[in-house]
Amino acid sequence: MLGAKEDRAPDGSTTDPDTEPIAARPLVVAGQGNYLYLADGRTILDACGGAAVSCLGHGVKDVIDAMTAQASRISYVSWSCFDNRTKLELSNWLSESSKGHFQKAYITSSGSEAMEGAMKLAREYFVWQGQPKRVNYISREESYHGITLGSLALGGHLVRRGPFEPLLLPNIYRVPACNIYRQRLPDETDTHFIVRKAVELEHAFHQAGPDTVAAFIAEPVVGAASGCVPAVPGYFKAMKTVCDKYGALLILDEVMCGMGRTGTLHAWEQEGVMPDIQALGKGLGGGYQPVSAILVSGKITQVMEAKGVAFTHGHTYQDHPVACAAALKVQQIIQRDNLLSNVQRQGQYLEKLLRTKLRDHPYVGDIRGRGLFWGIEFVRDLVTKEPFDPKLQLAYRIHEMAMSPPYNTVLYYGQGCAGNRKGDHVMIMPAYNVTE
Ligand code: PLP
Repeated sequence: MLGAKEDRAPDGSTTDPDTEPIAARPLVVAGQGNYLYLADGRTILDACGGAAVSCLGHGVKDVIDAMTAQASRISYVSWSCFDNRTKLELSNWLSESSKGHFQKAYITSSGSEAMEGAMKLAREYFVWQGQPKRVNYISREESYHGITLGSLALGGHLVRRGPFEPLLLPNIYRVPACNIYRQRLPDETDTHFIVRKAVELEHAFHQAGPDTVAAFIAEPVVGAASGCVPAVPGYFKAMKTVCDKYGALLILDEVMCGMGRTGTLHAWEQEGVMPDIQALGKGLGGGYQPVSAILVSGKITQVMEAKGVAFTHGHTYQDHPVACAAALKVQQIIQRDNLLSNVQRQGQYLEKLLRTKLRDHPYVGDIRGRGLFWGIEFVRDLVTKEPFDPKLQLAYRIHEMAMSPPYNTVLYYGQGCAGNRKGDHVMIMPAYNVTE
């Protein structure tokens, strides 16, 4: 449980980077390009962009200029009374990025809001369709979908759920994640592994009641919950087939792995499936503004148009003009500078480096990832995959060591969040314009 002694580092800070620290963290005074400048004089290489947020690095003038120009033109209007041009341009851009699959975008502020909204939209879609019995969701263990009560309930991050467990929605059914390092049986082929995963999902549908499930929710590449774990090729196609069989929606949470992080703009492009609803965050605005999005496919917008209904939802800062201006400019720069090719190229270089340098390390159990989204899992025993005692706070200590001379590099760190908090991991997620 968060707050328990073993969740705190020796200096009193928590070992979960996304929760409030007890001890102060280093004071940052500036950022430029791939570097952060601290009040104590240190220069730190930003190798994780927070939690995969700063996809362009820091201080990009074109983004700052676009935000300033937008703020001078119109800094805020309520979406309930007005549309604003930048929001429309961003929505069109996002729709075109899916070749028209997504017909609508709600621009929100955080990943949690986007996931909470996605969850509500799936529910309301079935109310419009005359299927009000669909009140259940299926998500995966080893997942994280946000920190607000609805999104927290979806995720399997036991540490962050801890004190709030009694407040969380009960209508979430959970299936094991697709973590080949931890779950593949001896001699099991990819095909057999995927069949087993599909059976697990079918089982969850039957547990919930097949016609009561609104959506299956998953991260194409699992982020903070277990450290950059991609699915086995073919997994998502098999999951989508099960969803279709029972008439449930597929919601993909690309808050962390989306917008180019894995080498394609959308991570699902590498999976051969398209979600009915998608959540975006972090890399959408690259940290220049708090901005996220709920992307809605034509399957849902057609029903909305046919029935003349609107989503019963809305935040004060939805479609915020300055947030939209930041996101639009970040995305235009990714396209203008052909950064997806750099993500692929540098991703291959990083993978090779990690696999070569760490191949024989006695405590490196797994190296996995895609694009510029790489995780390293540490285990006490390579054969049994037994993790280190969580009290050692190994990942946190590696993070601390990396931040110190001669490395001066910030890495993201975490402990497996499901079951027995398996495995410490660190994550390397540099900006898309990083050089060798
Ligand atoms: N979904 C995923 C996959 C995430 O990684 C995160 C944050 O780490 C969230 C949702 C929640 O986003 P936010 O912290 O912006 O609310």
